[in-house]
Amino acid sequence: MGSLYSLVAFYSDCPCEQDNWHDSKMMIDCENCSLCRESCPTGSIPVDRFLIHAEKCPGFLNEIEPDVPYWVQLQPDWHNALIGCMRCQFVCPVNKPYLDNIMAGPSFSEDETDMILNKTPWEKLSSKTRQKLGISEGVYRRLPPNLSALIEKQKKVMQR
Ligand code: SF4
Ligand code: SF4
Repeated sequence: MGSLYSLVAFYSDCPCEQDNWHDSKMMIDCENCSLCRESCPTGSIPVDRFLIHAEKCPGFLNEIEPDVPYWVQLQPDWHNALIGCMRCQFVCPVNKPYLDNIMAGPSFSEDETDMILNKTPWEKLSSKTRQKLGISEGVYRRLPPNLSALIEKQKKVMQR
Protein backbone atom coordinates (compact mmCIF):
# COMPACT_ATOMS: atom_id res chain seq x y z
CA MET A 1 0.00 0.00 0.00
CA GLY A 2 3.00 2.29 -0.40
CA SER A 3 2.90 5.41 1.70
CA LEU A 4 -0.83 4.95 2.35
CA TYR A 5 0.09 2.21 4.77
CA SER A 6 -0.68 3.17 8.35
CA LEU A 7 1.11 1.50 11.20
CA VAL A 8 -1.11 0.41 14.07
CA ALA A 9 0.27 -1.06 17.28
CA PHE A 10 -1.42 -3.81 19.25
CA TYR A 11 -0.21 -4.67 22.72
CA SER A 12 -0.60 -7.98 24.41
CA ASP A 13 0.99 -10.03 27.17
CA CYS A 14 0.41 -13.12 25.07
CA PRO A 15 3.76 -14.92 24.44
CA CYS A 16 5.02 -14.38 20.87
CA GLU A 17 6.60 -17.56 19.67
CA GLN A 18 6.99 -16.44 16.08
CA ASP A 19 9.01 -13.25 15.56
CA ASN A 20 8.83 -11.83 12.06
CA TRP A 21 10.12 -8.37 12.96
CA HIS A 22 12.86 -7.15 10.64
CA ASP A 23 14.80 -3.99 9.85
CA SER A 24 13.01 -1.27 7.97
CA LYS A 25 13.85 -1.06 4.29
CA MET A 26 13.05 1.09 1.32
CA MET A 27 10.52 -0.12 -1.24
CA ILE A 28 12.14 -1.39 -4.42
CA ASP A 29 9.83 0.95 -6.34
CA CYS A 30 11.57 3.94 -4.75
CA GLU A 31 14.96 3.07 -6.18
CA ASN A 32 14.47 4.87 -9.48
CA CYS A 33 11.59 7.16 -8.62
CA SER A 34 11.44 10.73 -7.39
CA LEU A 35 7.81 11.56 -8.13
CA CYS A 36 6.98 12.34 -4.50
CA ARG A 37 9.98 14.67 -4.18
CA GLU A 38 9.11 16.45 -7.40
CA SER A 39 5.49 16.98 -6.37
CA CYS A 40 6.22 18.20 -2.84
CA PRO A 41 5.27 21.88 -2.69
CA THR A 42 7.42 22.64 0.35
CA GLY A 43 10.67 20.87 -0.51
CA SER A 44 10.21 18.53 2.45
CA ILE A 45 11.60 15.45 0.71
CA PRO A 46 15.38 15.80 0.55
CA VAL A 47 17.77 13.96 -1.76
CA ASP A 48 20.43 13.47 0.90
CA ARG A 49 18.45 11.67 3.58
CA PHE A 50 15.65 9.13 3.73
CA LEU A 51 13.47 10.80 6.36
CA ILE A 52 11.33 13.66 5.16
CA HIS A 53 11.50 17.04 6.87
CA ALA A 54 8.11 16.72 8.53
CA GLU A 55 8.61 20.11 10.17
CA LYS A 56 8.16 21.67 6.72
CA CYS A 57 4.93 19.81 5.87
CA PRO A 58 1.65 21.73 5.93
CA GLY A 59 0.41 18.96 8.23
CA PHE A 60 2.81 20.32 10.85
CA LEU A 61 2.65 24.01 9.99
CA ASN A 62 -1.15 24.00 10.01
CA GLU A 63 -1.09 22.78 13.59
CA ILE A 64 0.82 25.74 14.97
CA GLU A 65 -1.34 27.53 17.51
CA PRO A 66 -3.21 29.78 17.53
CA ASP A 67 -3.36 29.98 13.75
CA VAL A 68 -1.63 28.82 10.62
CA PRO A 69 1.36 31.17 10.05
CA TYR A 70 0.48 33.94 7.56
CA TRP A 71 3.22 32.87 5.14
CA VAL A 72 1.64 29.42 4.97
CA GLN A 73 -1.79 30.96 4.41
CA LEU A 74 -0.31 32.81 1.43
CA GLN A 75 0.45 29.52 -0.31
CA PRO A 76 -2.94 28.22 -1.50
CA ASP A 77 -1.27 25.47 -3.50
CA TRP A 78 0.03 23.90 -0.29
CA HIS A 79 -3.47 23.24 1.02
CA ASN A 80 -5.02 20.15 -0.45
CA ALA A 81 -6.41 18.07 2.42
CA LEU A 82 -8.46 18.42 5.58
CA ILE A 83 -5.71 16.76 7.56
CA GLY A 84 -2.10 17.06 6.49
CA CYS A 85 -1.11 17.10 2.84
CA MET A 86 -1.60 14.39 0.23
CA ARG A 87 0.52 15.56 -2.68
CA CYS A 88 3.31 12.99 -2.29
CA GLN A 89 0.75 10.24 -1.71
CA PHE A 90 -1.39 11.04 -4.75
CA VAL A 91 1.53 10.76 -7.20
CA CYS A 92 3.08 7.60 -5.79
CA PRO A 93 2.67 4.76 -8.32
CA VAL A 94 2.53 2.20 -5.49
CA ASN A 95 -0.45 3.99 -3.97
CA LYS A 96 -2.31 4.26 -7.24
CA PRO A 97 -4.41 1.06 -6.99
CA TYR A 98 -5.81 2.25 -3.67
CA LEU A 99 -6.63 5.88 -4.45
CA ASP A 100 -10.13 5.07 -5.63
CA ASN A 101 -10.95 3.21 -2.43
CA ILE A 102 -12.94 6.13 -1.11
CA MET A 103 -15.65 5.49 1.43
CA ALA A 104 -18.53 7.94 1.39
CA GLY A 105 -18.56 9.91 4.62
CA PRO A 106 -21.31 11.78 6.46
CA SER A 107 -22.65 15.18 5.36
CA PHE A 108 -22.44 18.29 7.50
CA SER A 109 -25.07 21.01 7.56
CA GLU A 110 -24.21 24.67 7.06
CA ASP A 111 -24.66 25.23 10.81
CA GLU A 112 -22.28 22.40 11.64
CA THR A 113 -19.74 23.70 9.14
CA ASP A 114 -20.01 27.19 10.64
CA MET A 115 -19.42 25.78 14.10
CA ILE A 116 -16.30 23.99 12.91
CA LEU A 117 -15.00 27.05 11.05
CA ASN A 118 -15.60 29.17 14.14
CA LYS A 119 -13.50 26.79 16.23
CA THR A 120 -16.38 25.79 18.48
CA PRO A 121 -14.85 23.86 21.37
CA TRP A 122 -15.19 20.11 21.02
CA GLU A 123 -17.41 19.77 24.09
CA LYS A 124 -19.84 22.36 22.67
CA LEU A 125 -20.44 20.38 19.49
CA SER A 126 -23.48 18.15 19.55
CA SER A 127 -22.81 14.47 20.16
CA LYS A 128 -24.21 13.81 16.68
CA THR A 129 -21.67 16.15 15.07
CA ARG A 130 -18.84 14.67 17.11
CA GLN A 131 -19.91 11.20 16.11
CA LYS A 132 -20.06 12.17 12.44
CA LEU A 133 -16.60 13.72 12.63
CA GLY A 134 -15.27 10.43 13.95
CA ILE A 135 -11.98 11.99 15.05
CA SER A 136 -10.35 12.80 18.36
CA GLU A 137 -10.47 16.23 19.96
CA GLY A 138 -6.76 16.66 19.15
CA VAL A 139 -7.33 16.06 15.44
CA TYR A 140 -10.46 18.25 15.52
CA ARG A 141 -8.33 21.24 16.50
CA ARG A 142 -6.57 21.00 13.12
CA LEU A 143 -9.81 21.05 11.13
CA PRO A 144 -10.92 24.72 11.25
CA PRO A 145 -7.80 26.27 9.62
CA ASN A 146 -7.53 23.49 7.05
CA LEU A 147 -11.22 23.58 6.19
CA SER A 148 -11.12 27.36 5.94
CA ALA A 149 -8.08 27.24 3.62
CA LEU A 150 -9.78 24.67 1.37
CA ILE A 151 -13.02 26.68 1.21
CA GLU A 152 -11.08 29.86 0.33
CA LYS A 153 -9.18 27.95 -2.33
CA GLN A 154 -12.40 26.56 -3.78
CA LYS A 155 -13.95 30.04 -3.85
CA LYS A 156 -11.01 31.30 -5.93
CA VAL A 157 -11.38 28.39 -8.35
CA MET A 158 -15.09 29.14 -8.76
CA GLN A 159 -14.39 32.83 -9.43
CA ARG A 160 -12.21 31.98 -12.44
S1 SF4 B 1 6.57 8.33 -5.29
FE1 SF4 B 1 6.31 6.40 -4.15
S2 SF4 B 1 7.58 4.93 -5.23
FE2 SF4 B 1 8.21 6.97 -5.90
S3 SF4 B 1 9.94 7.47 -4.53
FE3 SF4 B 1 8.09 8.33 -3.63
S4 SF4 B 1 7.35 6.75 -2.19
FE4 SF4 B 1 8.82 5.77 -3.59
S1 SF4 C 1 2.92 15.68 2.88
FE1 SF4 C 1 3.03 17.35 1.35
S2 SF4 C 1 4.55 18.78 2.15
FE2 SF4 C 1 4.81 16.84 3.28
S3 SF4 C 1 6.33 15.69 2.15
FE3 SF4 C 1 4.37 15.07 1.29
S4 SF4 C 1 4.00 16.50 -0.44
FE4 SF4 C 1 5.64 17.36 0.83
